[in-house]
Amino acid sequence: MTRSKGMAAAFAAMALLTAQSALAQGYPEREITMIVPFSAGGPTDTVGRLIAEKMSADLGQQIIVENVGGAGGTVGAAQAAGAEPDGYTILLHHIGMATSATLYRELPYDTLNSFEYVGLVTEVPMTIVSRKDLEPTDFASLLAYVKENADTITMANAGIGAASHLCGMLFMQATETPLVTVPYKGTGPAMTELVGGQIDIMCDQTTGTAEQIKGGTIKAYAVTTSERLEIFPDLPTAQESGLADFEIGVWHGIYTPKGTPAEVNDRLAAALQKALADPDVVAKMGELGTKPSSAEEATPAALKTKLEAEIARWKPVIEAAGVYAD
Ligand code: ASP
Repeated sequence: MTRSKGMAAAFAAMALLTAQSALAQGYPEREITMIVPFSAGGPTDTVGRLIAEKMSADLGQQIIVENVGGAGGTVGAAQAAGAEPDGYTILLHHIGMATSATLYRELPYDTLNSFEYVGLVTEVPMTIVSRKDLEPTDFASLLAYVKENADTITMANAGIGAASHLCGMLFMQATETPLVTVPYKGTGPAMTELVGGQIDIMCDQTTGTAEQIKGGTIKAYAVTTSERLEIFPDLPTAQESGLADFEIGVWHGIYTPKGTPAEVNDRLAAALQKALADPDVVAKMGELGTKPSSAEEATPAALKTKLEAEIARWKPVIEAAGVYAD
């Protein structure tokens, strides 16, 4: 590079930094859109709306949730990746951000290079549930029933890349029983059909199932964490019920489009940390079987580390299952 070209590049970089920090200083000046890549009324949406309300109070601007469901969360993630990197579009996504990186042969974005990080939000247990009149009464009898009725039983999920898809995939692998799956744009609408008896079984976050289980509108067989849950002490873990190593926790994080200034991500992280410490959020999450991430986890660095580790963790599992979306 010639001296004048080098200087021009340096000036351009300085101008960009100045523009970015000017943007960050007054941020936020207007409402922010939070993309939730699943349907309204589902568990990811529930987490998003809870956090959005409290973050809005701290930021002094409304965070409006926009549900962009489809293709296991990848449609919403693609929309966020293509948005202006100005802090006015943020994405709340879950473990699917990591699994879709392997599940999809091609994605309309680059998982590790199309986003900046704000922080972790929560890690939510899953439950294996059915319509309330499904015959089996416990997890052992469900396993036998699933094997006997593999051709007719239907399992809902929110598309390839969704947590419900991952859980279903592991369930089929562990039971060596392929099932008919029915994809929705989110497990909110799937839950409506489960309650209505149009679908047989599903695996979904407690943020979507806890109230239905408590209300007796669906039947619960097992939880996907290694420990039983405080809210459902009688519900066994899948591990203790015979599926060794069966464990999923659905961690959620907030991302921004690549190029969003660090000051903006840090401001969002500060608002997130405050929201997660809010007693209402702690209480509501507790009722739903989860708890907020700590202040140390609700940081850009912690989310980046988590995403990288989780891509590496699930890659061999998905490759072994041989499940891919084209
Ligand atoms: N629980 C869903 C999933 O399977 C997504 C949702 O609708 O929140 O990932």
